Amino acid sequence: MIKTHGYAVQSATSVPAPFDYEQREPGPNDVHIAIDFCGVCHSDIHQAHNDWGNGNYPMVPGHEIIGTVKRVGANVTKVKVGDLAGVGCMIDSCRVCASCKDGEEQYCDRHATIMTYNSRKKDGSYTYGGYGENIVVDEAFVLTVPHNLNPAAVAPLLCAGITTYSPLKHWHVGAGQRVGVIGLGGLGHMALKFSHAFGANTVQFTRSPSKIEDAKRLGADEVILTKEPNWHTPHAGSFNFILDCVSADHDITPYMSLLKRDGTLCTVGIPPSPIAVSAFPLVDGRKSLSGSNIGGIKETQEMLDYCSAHHIVSDIEMTSFDKIEEAWERVIKSDVKYRFVLDLKTLRS
Ligand code: NAP
Ligand code: ZN
Ligand code: ZN
Repeated sequence: MIKTHGYAVQSATSVPAPFDYEQREPGPNDVHIAIDFCGVCHSDIHQAHNDWGNGNYPMVPGHEIIGTVKRVGANVTKVKVGDLAGVGCMIDSCRVCASCKDGEEQYCDRHATIMTYNSRKKDGSYTYGGYGENIVVDEAFVLTVPHNLNPAAVAPLLCAGITTYSPLKHWHVGAGQRVGVIGLGGLGHMALKFSHAFGANTVQFTRSPSKIEDAKRLGADEVILTKEPNWHTPHAGSFNFILDCVSADHDITPYMSLLKRDGTLCTVGIPPSPIAVSAFPLVDGRKSLSGSNIGGIKETQEMLDYCSAHHIVSDIEMTSFDKIEEAWERVIKSDVKYRFVLDLKTLRS
């Protein structure tokens, strides 16, 4: 077994603290990755705080993982020792159902997707994620990492990147469309970059006047502040697609009224409470309310390769475990520009 030092939360009210655990010895199809960087996703905080009611403790969060390949099993061909490798939100699935065969392992029909942390493995134990020194993952769920990008800034692409890229692709976002992004955080800033790169007229919705200039720099053609009452009225019926990247409970009814006929609002944000929406703005204009969960391994690799070709990375602020409590508090306060990334190399020194 591989002794691993990391950080875990022991309950829904505790903060990440040092925790020693073990990862399995690599089997023939496994890749042992020494973790260099891990992004801090709001989902880490939701799960650690048991916002979704699914917390298992101790929990080692982290699913935006970039590291250096330390060992590979005999059958591994995707990466070799010394390569950079990535691991996102999943480490396994049934691999034989229709969704898995279609490369949509996150929607495994047998509900056998194993998430990178806080998820039960086949042997009954729980997975431990990227807030630690090592991870061992089957190569089928390992991503290859472009060489021309800053690896620390690539880490958030493994969740925030694919989670926004996938729905924008699925709904064919592109030139000639008006696309809205709600919430300028980790996911939101990647949605801006991708929507802009795909050629759509891109609009940021934000409660934060201090983020207006950043939104424009990140790819917004227009920024709409959502603080004042009736802020939405002048923009009614003007959007083809809106991606909701908000982490907290909020009213989506005004956004439904912004859609054109047959428009779609897709949520990737997962606030703690059920979404409540009046039926009127849905039936009026045959609008769709939808959702999307990360993206499959094949599409994640496609997204990384797209980012390599278009020089797209996340805007990051480096942090470390001695400041993790403060980083989480700043994420909760929507004060992140625009993704914290943990430097795991400090754990090894
Ligand atoms: P984040 O960095 O904290 O960004 C969330 C943004 O939402 C904030 O920057 C803020 O933007 C806005 N916001 C926060 N509280 C709000 C409120 N009360 N009302 C309206 N807007 C509010 O979070 P993230 O890491 O991007 O994650 C966003 C959500 O997506 C989380 O719920 C996360 O769990 C979920 N997620 C889902 C998937 C998936 O596969 N579906 C994957 C990853 C994450 P402004 O300051 O601009 O208003
Ligand atoms: Zn995430
Ligand atoms: Zn499956």
